[in-house]
Amino acid sequence: MARIAIDISGGDLKQENVIVGIDLGTTNSLIARMVDGQAQCIADHGKEVIVPSLIHFAPSGEVIVGEEARPLLTRQPERTVYSAKRLMGKSYHDVQAHTPYFSYRILDDGTDSLVKVQIGGRYYSPVELSALILKELKARAEHRLKTEVRQVVITVPAYFNDAQRQATRDAGKLAGLDVLRIVNEPTAAALAYGIGTQAQESRTVTVYDLGGGTFDVTILQITDGIFEVLATHGDTYLGGDDIDRALLQEFARQLVVAPDQMEATLMQNLRLLAEEAKKHLTNHETFAHTLPMSDGRQVRLQADRTLLNTLAQPLVDRTLESCRQALADAQLTPAQIEEVILVGGSTRMPYVQQQVAAFFGRTPKCDINPDEVVALGAAVQADILAGNRKDLLLLDVTPLSLGVETAGGLMDVIIPRNSKIPTALAKQYTTQRDGQTGMRITVYQGERELVAENRKLAEFELKGIPAMPAGLPKVEIRFLLDADGILRVSARELRSEVAAEIEVKPQYGLTDSEVEQMLLAGFTHAKADVETRLHIEAQEEARQLIYQAERFLEKHASALTETERAQMQAEVDKLRQLVDSGADKQSLHAAMDALDTLSRPFAQRVMEDALRQAMVGKGVGEVE
Ligand code: ADP
Ligand code: MG
Repeated sequence: MARIAIDISGGDLKQENVIVGIDLGTTNSLIARMVDGQAQCIADHGKEVIVPSLIHFAPSGEVIVGEEARPLLTRQPERTVYSAKRLMGKSYHDVQAHTPYFSYRILDDGTDSLVKVQIGGRYYSPVELSALILKELKARAEHRLKTEVRQVVITVPAYFNDAQRQATRDAGKLAGLDVLRIVNEPTAAALAYGIGTQAQESRTVTVYDLGGGTFDVTILQITDGIFEVLATHGDTYLGGDDIDRALLQEFARQLVVAPDQMEATLMQNLRLLAEEAKKHLTNHETFAHTLPMSDGRQVRLQADRTLLNTLAQPLVDRTLESCRQALADAQLTPAQIEEVILVGGSTRMPYVQQQVAAFFGRTPKCDINPDEVVALGAAVQADILAGNRKDLLLLDVTPLSLGVETAGGLMDVIIPRNSKIPTALAKQYTTQRDGQTGMRITVYQGERELVAENRKLAEFELKGIPAMPAGLPKVEIRFLLDADGILRVSARELRSEVAAEIEVKPQYGLTDSEVEQMLLAGFTHAKADVETRLHIEAQEEARQLIYQAERFLEKHASALTETERAQMQAEVDKLRQLVDSGADKQSLHAAMDALDTLSRPFAQRVMEDALRQAMVGKGVGEVE
């Protein structure tokens, strides 16, 4: 039961078609919409626009979402969930290393299945938890706007994989929302600034996002309304909370109490005080607060901006290291970045702004409130989807190539990376063996030439192909990628209409950095990969030729002389020996040419014989 009920009795509920944008954050979430061409965050009457992503489950069954759940973080830590976003689309395996970070109970069933959170005797999936936050946002917006809110755009980090995106989409559905689009947070931030909305506009942009507990940097190449992620880097356990912790330690030092000997209430008070001090120091040079202690002492706690900067320095250095890495991955220098956008509450800190400016050699954009910019951009995207912005172009692209495995373990790309989505593309394949009636179709995602280096998404079989000679069946494999990056693969043998289809179930258990690495590995290994592919292709071609030659020898032995048969067998054996010994592609091609040159006249002879016989038997007119 959500705490805020929709009060529709007081006002008329308009059936207006509003599409809103939602920033479903790790620390804070917001909902925004367009008002007279301007994106605006929606606050319920008398409330802040920011809804902390906190969920408290009271023993009574009541569910409290947002700011009111904050005091319960320390009073009932085992019943108060924070950072649910970190668990989206994750298996216990994925989060195992971080369990000390969570003070609520994460269920350990020791498998690769998805994580659940245990509160009392009930289990909640991250999808359900996120749905509760979304419901709260929906309720607030409905209460404020006096209209039903159903259609939404939700943002996710650029590094979110299919599983995490699908989980976010599911959370929306569970909250009674119709998720029109999942958009990358950096894309939304750029949109909020109006970057990338004009045709023929080309920009290279860096989005630096320092939130409460996470840091991401994304380099976007925006061309003609297409947002391409060139590189992403970051640290999923680095953010404003770390600065609060460092400041808390400083305060504990001033109190002359060791943090591990502090009572829970004092600890919580200090933590809140540390965050307050940090925020205060954004606009002031000094902070002071007198704290009444349980022993009757009055302790004056102090901090100034220089101290805060010193505490923040190692953390900010780490973010800049990530920026350096992202630039290297995108093969760009700071000078090639045309725009730097600051996102996340922690980028309000003057020290962060200065360091980022110094690193990129340009003043970063931060005139839009960095806590709100992502939600505002989501509202812009929502407005575009609503068809209100005919002047704007906005197309999404798929970050990784999608394809199937072909002979020799090679990746055959059907939808190349950076294709605009939604998109549907198909390719034709055939069988390798005579009478082959089944075909295994394995779907992969990634930039490497060998499927073994890519990410396997799904596998299915096309059965019941009528027996035909190798190469005759025409199997069309069609990939349909929808606007959220969900893939549907179908296979159809065109002569017989035998068909099979599969919806790609996102594969769970892939870490963020793995996805990121996959994006980059393609570039790094491009040259070596192409060599490997050409080699494997030559080997496959050779195997196919050997197969055909041996079948020819079996079927048409009588058409050849003994010497001819021996010659041909010798060439076949030589080629097989080369394949087996892993000979290079030049030697393979030479041996294939030799076999081909030798056997072509034989094949011709066999064909002429067959023709002659046909003419004798059936009369010339019937031979085509
Ligand atoms: P997320 O995207 O991770 O949900 P936000 O972008 O809302 O998080 O950032 C939350 C963080 O921003 C918190 O650590 C908060 O303390 C910090 N923050 C908010 N305002 C300020 C400020 N004025 N100065 C410094 N940090 C701030
Ligand atoms: Mg955020």
